[in-house]
Amino acid sequence: ESNLFHNYKTFMGYVQELKRLGVYTNADTPHDTEMAVAFGAEGIGLCRTEHMFFGGNRIMSIRKMILANNLVEREKALAELLPMQRGDFEAIFLALEGRPATIRLLDPPLHEFLPNDHTSRHELALQMGLTVEEVAQKSSALHEFNPMLGFRGCRLAIIYPEILMMQVRAIIEAAINVKRKGVDVMPEIMIPLVGNYKEFVFCKKHALQVIEKIFNEQGMQVHYKIGTMIEVPRAAITADEIAREAEFFSFGTNDLTQMTCGFSRDDAASFLGPYVNDTDKQIYDYDPFATIDIEGVGKLVDMAAKLGRSTNPDIKLGICGEHGGDPKTIAFCNKVGLDYVSCSPFRVPIARLAAAQASIAAKKAK
Ligand code: PEP
Ligand code: MG
Repeated sequence: ESNLFHNYKTFMGYVQELKRLGVYTNADTPHDTEMAVAFGAEGIGLCRTEHMFFGGNRIMSIRKMILANNLVEREKALAELLPMQRGDFEAIFLALEGRPATIRLLDPPLHEFLPNDHTSRHELALQMGLTVEEVAQKSSALHEFNPMLGFRGCRLAIIYPEILMMQVRAIIEAAINVKRKGVDVMPEIMIPLVGNYKEFVFCKKHALQVIEKIFNEQGMQVHYKIGTMIEVPRAAITADEIAREAEFFSFGTNDLTQMTCGFSRDDAASFLGPYVNDTDKQIYDYDPFATIDIEGVGKLVDMAAKLGRSTNPDIKLGICGEHGGDPKTIAFCNKVGLDYVSCSPFRVPIARLAAAQASIAAKKAK
């Protein structure tokens, strides 16, 4: 077996030399990060921070923050979250040992954070000095009919910049702490669900303010990047404008597919199966949520990559939707000149192989 492993490592060494695309991972825990690095991941392409708010008491703090009456109450709830977030990021930076970490600011569909059961409403009422009915009223006022197109992503950061500022503080303070331990750090702050460059500019401005402040407080700096998800069709269409301000784009092809094809990510299963599999229909050759829809969503990705590079030739381009671990999509990403793909830890070896095969195919085609 050790011989088998030796052969595997030799083989993956060839793969590594042949491929052009970087292969990163989607991870939001130190455990997933370590596993992905062991599989050969070259960094984190997507750290979804919303998952970090579900553990222990954190959900209470985030609920207090969302239901708060004013800035003072919100900042109090955020102050409870700051040390925990800082700890989360320190552990991830340590696990990465200097590899880049693209950390995405909070992007919850809001309904996942609302207190819907009596126990949590009761607890929240106690902590906030409200009645259970008031808590229920406040949360039902935030109910949305279409949460995936609602109050999520950067919209949350624009209405409540203090959330963004808490997370940026946690990221940069964690980076400084880890650097002080002698471990390199490369944080990349990613803004979710941008559709209009002004959304990006607003978020970037607030992030830079916090970063400058921390650098002064700490008397120390770290290198960082600020970039955006491209997952709303309007962002792809106006990518040249956004790229003037952004240092990287990461294509969120889950949402980009949902919004470009008009298929709900959560409800499309009932018709997509027959769309793809029934021989008399074959509307799509593949499940567009698994393999990029080259003629539609793919065209938008290709266009946005070109537009982005037209105003910012150095912009770093990647993909972090589910498609990032799919071999056919990886061949496409290689062709349109993305810099990296990012996928779940267990798909990293396949993605590396697919990236090498894409490079070989591209060389043969020349
Ligand atoms: C995406 O939309 O492709 C993405 C990676 O973000 P999420 O799946 O978290 O919406
Ligand atoms: Mg998304």
